[in-house]
Amino acid sequence: MSLSRGEIIELLTDPAAGPALRERADGLRRELHGDAVHFRAILEFSNHCRASCLYCGINCRMAGVERYRMERADILDAAERIVDAGFNTVILQSGEDRALKPEWLAGIIGDIKQRHDVAVSLSVGEWPRSVYELWRGAGAERYLLKLETADEALYERLHPGMSHRNRRRCLGDLFDLGYQVGSGNIVGLPGQGPAELADDILDFQANPYDMIAVGPLIPAAGTPYADLPRPCEDSVLRTIALARIAAPSAHLPSPTALCALEPDARRRALEWGANVLMIGFTPPKVARKYRIYQRAECGSTQSCLECLRGVVAELGRSVGRGKGHGFRRSGTPE
Ligand code: SAH
Repeated sequence: MSLSRGEIIELLTDPAAGPALRERADGLRRELHGDAVHFRAILEFSNHCRASCLYCGINCRMAGVERYRMERADILDAAERIVDAGFNTVILQSGEDRALKPEWLAGIIGDIKQRHDVAVSLSVGEWPRSVYELWRGAGAERYLLKLETADEALYERLHPGMSHRNRRRCLGDLFDLGYQVGSGNIVGLPGQGPAELADDILDFQANPYDMIAVGPLIPAAGTPYADLPRPCEDSVLRTIALARIAAPSAHLPSPTALCALEPDARRRALEWGANVLMIGFTPPKVARKYRIYQRAECGSTQSCLECLRGVVAELGRSVGRGKGHGFRRSGTPE
């Protein structure tokens, strides 16, 4: 049964609605996805960016950011470390790097696919359809491009010179080309309230996204929103639970940014409907330059991995074995 806008707003705002909402979302997660938690490894290979996202610490206006682009050989080494560590998905993420040659990235995708039995997911922003086609042909199966907000006016205030229509065009092209598509939103944007969040949930319900990444805004130093209050954990958890109800078969990450909000909030997100964890494999000397926001400094990839495996075990869940492909359109998990 689909959710109405009024119902969503009530579930977001009624202080008493939390426990039942959590239970309903957790039940759907268990029914559709079982107890497996899929780990996805993320490699942030470039922080060059032409985009204007006002909340993001590496947007094009951030003069103080030291920019980097990893070499092909270093990206392939990192992919090998990811595979050696037992992961089945490599996410290649970057800013919207104007100097990135589509053929260069296609070559890297092809090499990773040829050497390893992993799923390749891209998160490199808005590009023409022909470029998405090139990368799909090279073997990338997934693409993560968050709509960020379903509210067009809010989107365009937060992304000067960018257009919501083009964001939607990109998502449409990605669906057409047969990618498993990830979208999502940010909770805590300036000018966003329950009504705008409800529209995000309705968008998750209306579009067959394979993955939906809901994450809190972490005000980033040097941006116009540096001093904004952080959203409360409860509003993020409720949005994740509503995303689960709106799109029961979609994969939902317990967002990395939650760690910056509350050290153990990622565990709670797994109890509010989430079934995916992302873990950073960016080499430390460049990872500290990929500051879309100030991260929780809790240590290395290894310690993060140990902590997350511990969380999964404590919850009585297991680490997903297969590639954890999307199945929202096909209807059957692998
Ligand atoms: N250039 C790529 C990758 C962007 S970074 C793209 O455009 O898709 C990945 C995500 O980080 C963004 O989609 C956004 O939702 C999130 N993000 C950026 N700045 C953030 C901040 N300050 N707090 C929380 N999330 C942020």
